[in-house]
Amino acid sequence: MITQPRPRVCAPRERACRPTLHEMQALSGNRQALAQVQTEVIHCIRCPRLTRYREQVATVKVRRYRDWEYWGRPIPSLGDPDARLLILGLAPAAHGGNRTGRIFTGDRSGDWLCRALYVFGFANQPTSTARGDGLELKDCYITAALRCAPPQNKPTPQELTSCRPYLLRELGLLRKVRVVVALGRIAFDTFLRACHETGVALPRPRPRFAHGARFRLTNGLTLLASYHPSQQNTLTRRLTRAMFHATFREARRLLSQRREGTIFARSPS
Ligand code: SF4
Repeated sequence: MITQPRPRVCAPRERACRPTLHEMQALSGNRQALAQVQTEVIHCIRCPRLTRYREQVATVKVRRYRDWEYWGRPIPSLGDPDARLLILGLAPAAHGGNRTGRIFTGDRSGDWLCRALYVFGFANQPTSTARGDGLELKDCYITAALRCAPPQNKPTPQELTSCRPYLLRELGLLRKVRVVVALGRIAFDTFLRACHETGVALPRPRPRFAHGARFRLTNGLTLLASYHPSQQNTLTRRLTRAMFHATFREARRLLSQRREGTIFARSPS
């Protein structure tokens, strides 16, 4: 006798976690809107100095990557549009993201970040070497204060201001983010400015960057500060692997505690 499979019955808690049809449509719209932001990013030429620099680096190259066809354009963000963890970096590296075309990919900073994400369950593999290497982020979205590699890793205030609208739009669309990890002071300050510009009241006194600092914002979001995993910090052991992993352990702990809510109530234009 062929028996019909019994319909699966959800536990009440599981049902409560399921998105409604309206929520699913909204999430689908958010995915498309996020994809549109990235399309605009990779064609952006707002900053003349950075446009010149990224293209020059992509043409001149360095000896060890002379066989590569560099990306040489602004870098799109990467990850899960439904992510609860948002990571904000500074900018792509000249011979890292600017070469590979993917954020935190193909350089030592990317090695450090990807290892940490893998250890704490936010990535499916511990390495990030090139587009198409199989990397998938889980419950995690990576973006940056600046989408183009700046000379000497030093953007001007005007360049940061020019690029921030892309972040503002992403924040309005990443509706499930609960925890933000800011990598370095510039990313930290950029995120606070973006919060202010989206109407989030900042705590007083205003949070100041310090490695390991944690701030609860008025929209329910938690901001974690870490030194950037640049070689300048890791080779000097200003940032150790243990220090870096502690930040992501804390992010995982926070996410295991809290589930609900919308952070950025209105999408900035
Ligand atoms: S840094 Fe941002 S605003 Fe400036 S050119 Fe690159 S993508 Fe455009």
